[in-house]
Amino acid sequence: MPGTDALNVKPPPVTPLERLNRIVEEGACSGCGLCEAVAGRDRIQVRKVAQTGYERPVAVGEIGQELIDRVYDICPAARWDGLPDHLVDDNTEVDPVWGPFHSMVLAHAADPGVRLRGATGGVLTALGMFLVDTGRVDFVLHAKPSPVEPTYGTSQQSFDAAAVESGTGSMYAPTAPLRAAEELLSTNRAFAFVGKPCDIAALRNLARFDKRVDRLVKYWLTPVCGGWTSPEALNAFLSKRDVTWRDLDYFRHRGEGCPGEVEFATRDGREFRAHMYEPFGGLDEKDWKLPFRCKVCPDGSGESADIAAGDQWEDAKPDPVASLTDPGTNVVIVRTASGQELFDAAVAAGYVTVTGPTSPRWFDTCQPHLVAKKFAMRARFDGLASMGHLVPRSRNLRLDALSRQAGPERYSHQYEGSRYRVRIGRGAEPAPVACDD
Ligand SMILES: Cc1cc2nc3c(=O)[nH]c(=O)nc-3n(C[C@H](O)[C@H](O)[C@H](O)COP(=O)(O)OP(=O)(O)OC[C@H]3O[C@@H](n4cnc5c(N)ncnc54)[C@H](O)[C@@H]3O)c2cc1C
Ligand code: SF4
Ligand code: SF4
Repeated sequence: MPGTDALNVKPPPVTPLERLNRIVEEGACSGCGLCEAVAGRDRIQVRKVAQTGYERPVAVGEIGQELIDRVYDICPAARWDGLPDHLVDDNTEVDPVWGPFHSMVLAHAADPGVRLRGATGGVLTALGMFLVDTGRVDFVLHAKPSPVEPTYGTSQQSFDAAAVESGTGSMYAPTAPLRAAEELLSTNRAFAFVGKPCDIAALRNLARFDKRVDRLVKYWLTPVCGGWTSPEALNAFLSKRDVTWRDLDYFRHRGEGCPGEVEFATRDGREFRAHMYEPFGGLDEKDWKLPFRCKVCPDGSGESADIAAGDQWEDAKPDPVASLTDPGTNVVIVRTASGQELFDAAVAAGYVTVTGPTSPRWFDTCQPHLVAKKFAMRARFDGLASMGHLVPRSRNLRLDALSRQAGPERYSHQYEGSRYRVRIGRGAEPAPVACDD
């Protein structure tokens, strides 16, 4: 049963700066960038920090209690909900693990080049291209590799199909797509947002306070997400080849096949390729060097998006040889009426090809890591909370029901495991200090 650990429980933070730093210090920040947008760059900047290489909020100006309350309102570390009630309708089915959906299919981008270059089958890119080509939105807000530090992602606004295509691929790296959200909302232009489930949760939080969000964000698209590689692990992967990020001219985490390989090149002309999972630490999830936030993530399938797209390798283990020539096929979870209308229109217009139906229980077999996390998350959150750590309030993610289904033995194992991790400082980060790199 949940209990407290009087000697180890941290006292609650008091000052606004302590409250901001707490999100980082407890490993709860996902680096979405939205606090910078809400606070303004003159007060908070989400920047690469010196100690870990993560992108974290750094206080650069005065922060009052009112502002930090606002940050806690929108930050997914403090609140993370599933699909808003008003988007659930008579056609919505709710799967206990994968959440609300209208349909679940296998599909890929119809254009063979987009399909091949896309992280999986290019469906998210094809939908984005369809949206700008047809003028349904003015631009797509998504991400692309950073021109400064190519292992990182950076936010991108794409106004045409070629720009959308330049963001294909999954970036397993710090990427703060919402840094410029305030600026973009103030332009009064309609857009689609593609972001990880935590990014989507952050923007949905903002929608509760800022009416412009639901008016201007016309479509919400997300990759299914099991986490990314810590900068420390990625740097270790590079240094094995005698390369540092400063040497890099180009870096691609995956793509050109499904998943294809990690590919990178240095400014002095050296070229490298490796199995996509090498920077993670191998194919086995228990060895993955993920940020702590990703280990305590309540929603890897983006339940509050209109459409989520994921991989479909059995047991989440792509065959290293077949993956070089497989052009890729996505599992697509269409969650809302608006998502279904968009998806059907993109299929009818020849941007996306559907190859067949699929089902939640089959998707379970492709995502054992996400299924296990979903069943474990209530116990992990309770364990963290019992040590005085911040955990997100949440609605519509079914964490209590799944935990009950998992049973008391699993609960107790996960609960004690979280408390142990806190005691040994796992996931703890230092108060952020901006890096000059
Ligand atoms: C960090 C991460 C972890 C993932 N883990 C899993 C997993 O465990 N299981 C699974 O089934 N699938 C996972 N995926 C999803 C998978 O890799 C594909 O992104 C998904 O299948 C969509 O493929 P696609 O070919 O349609 O995407 P593409 O057509 O290549 O489009 C991808 C879109 O996502 C955006 N994007 C890429 N990286 C980021 C980022 N870091 N932050 C914000 N936006 C980004 C791009 O800008 C682009 O618009 C993960 C993706 C990411 C980014
Ligand atoms: S998760 Fe996002 S909003 Fe919360 S502190 Fe981190 S960057 Fe800011
Ligand atoms: S695993 Fe969760 S917290 Fe980590 S990047 Fe993915 S959605 Fe965000």
